[in-house]
Amino acid sequence: MSQKFDVVVIGAGPGGYVAAIRAAQLGLKTACVEKWVDDKGATILGGTCLNVGCIPSKALLDSTHKYHMTHGEFEAHGIKTGKVTMDVPAMIARKDQIVKNLTGGITGLFKANGVTLLSGKGKVLAGKQVEVTKADGSTEVVDAENIIIAAGSVPVNIPPAPLTDGLIVDNEGALQITKTPKRLGVIGAGVIGLEMGSIWARLGSEVTVLEAMEEFLPFADKDVAKESQKILGKQGLDIKLGARVTGTEVKGKAVKVQYTDANGEQEITVDTLIVAVGRRPYTEGLLAGDCGVELDERGFISVDGQCRTSVPGVYAIGDVVRGPMLAHKASEEGIMVADIIHGHKAQMNYDCIPGIIYTHPELAWVGKSEQQLKAEGVKYKVGKFPFAASGRAMASHDTEGFVKLIACEETDRILGCHIVGGLAGELIAQAVIAMEFGSSAEDLQLTVFAHPTVSEAVHEAALACDGHAIHVANRKKR
Ligand code: FAD
Ligand code: AMP
Repeated sequence: MSQKFDVVVIGAGPGGYVAAIRAAQLGLKTACVEKWVDDKGATILGGTCLNVGCIPSKALLDSTHKYHMTHGEFEAHGIKTGKVTMDVPAMIARKDQIVKNLTGGITGLFKANGVTLLSGKGKVLAGKQVEVTKADGSTEVVDAENIIIAAGSVPVNIPPAPLTDGLIVDNEGALQITKTPKRLGVIGAGVIGLEMGSIWARLGSEVTVLEAMEEFLPFADKDVAKESQKILGKQGLDIKLGARVTGTEVKGKAVKVQYTDANGEQEITVDTLIVAVGRRPYTEGLLAGDCGVELDERGFISVDGQCRTSVPGVYAIGDVVRGPMLAHKASEEGIMVADIIHGHKAQMNYDCIPGIIYTHPELAWVGKSEQQLKAEGVKYKVGKFPFAASGRAMASHDTEGFVKLIACEETDRILGCHIVGGLAGELIAQAVIAMEFGSSAEDLQLTVFAHPTVSEAVHEAALACDGHAIHVANRKKR
């Protein structure tokens, strides 16, 4: 007789494992199917995020930022160092250990919460059944009262740049580079491309980023994009906009990259090429033809605002559905769906999902950008405060960037916040909480922020919305 579960989750990334834990916490008999195994056949939990995404990239960004600080930054504090070198294999090993600890932690959480792990590839069958194909080829069919699909995404490959053994790599290969390339090429100036470029530029690579679009970070607030482009350029990232890669040629241990820009056909030669042109939903072998789950025109699983697919009782969350491809979005959808299955009226605020790019300084935002509000014809006011005017930022020698807060001209409600700054990724949570609680700029103005902290810049930006910032001249004409 086949096993029967209240909930079967397919995929153990930040969407799936969080959904499984929440469902189990709510008393639902829960299984999670995961196909990823290591070379010893052990199941790997944590998905893209923990294994080849958020966590390993941040580990390398942190290591290289610390290294970079010894080159110039320390001197500003009066710290003299001898010759500082980077042991790249040791840096990669530290990253691998962090990944191992975290993924192992999920195994522990599954056990502690009573989630049954089914190792193998899951396929949704008609009649709310899931077929699990194990590594040895054998199959098991389980019955599910509810199914949560959390199959995630995989990197997009482009024909002009086929992956080639350590020379042309995607985000997975990029996290395993063990020797600093003298010349690094990156295709795509998106979130992943900029983070990867930053890592190696800090270690001394000459980095060229080729981006097909004319505009830098078109999805970010224009002030954030402008400031970031300027700063990354100063850091040595040669970002070529309007540069579409058309071909590559591997010559010995080098890669020739052909691209076209406004001046016609161009070519550069690099030692390593990272392809970071985006990710696509992963649905290969996931849905039986008659299971009834529909895809949209871009290949994502179609869902409503509460992640219901076209089949009652079957939900889909995370990168495999519409919306930003972000780990926290996937996790929150997982919690929402588990709660809905348990009978709660759960929902998620898609207008309040923060985005962060972990360059240095970091870029972080939530809500609407100025250009979006303009296009929508909303009357808004802007308060901006530069970290150069923050005592704490000066004390830390981390004064690049600003906090930009946007509030509704008529209601004073906060509509968006956009930050460039060393701690932008942490500071943005203040704006997220404020927006989630429906705060006005005045609410933040009346809140006491500790001194001296970089958080005061959020307070000052709120004051600046009405021309009342204290530590920068910003009086508005009345
Ligand atoms: P995934 O994490 O992709 O997990 C899906 C899981 O499902 C995988 O384990 C897969 O093996 C499994 N699976 C798929 N199909 C099946 C099947 N049929 N049967 C069984 N198992 C299956 N996001 C952030 O929020 N912050 C960041 O800083 C950040 N940095 C990133 C850096 C990089 C280099 C990359 C590549 C991504 C980054 N992301 C970041 C994005 C983030 O990793 C994803 O948004 C997130 O992992 C999506 O979670 P998910 O659970 O939907 O899918
Ligand atoms: P993201 O989706 O944020 O990871 O960004 C991927 C980026 O890669 C986008 O900005 C695309 O415009 C860019 N891109 C896609 N194809 C090419 C190409 N052939 N040459 C250069 N850039 C590309």
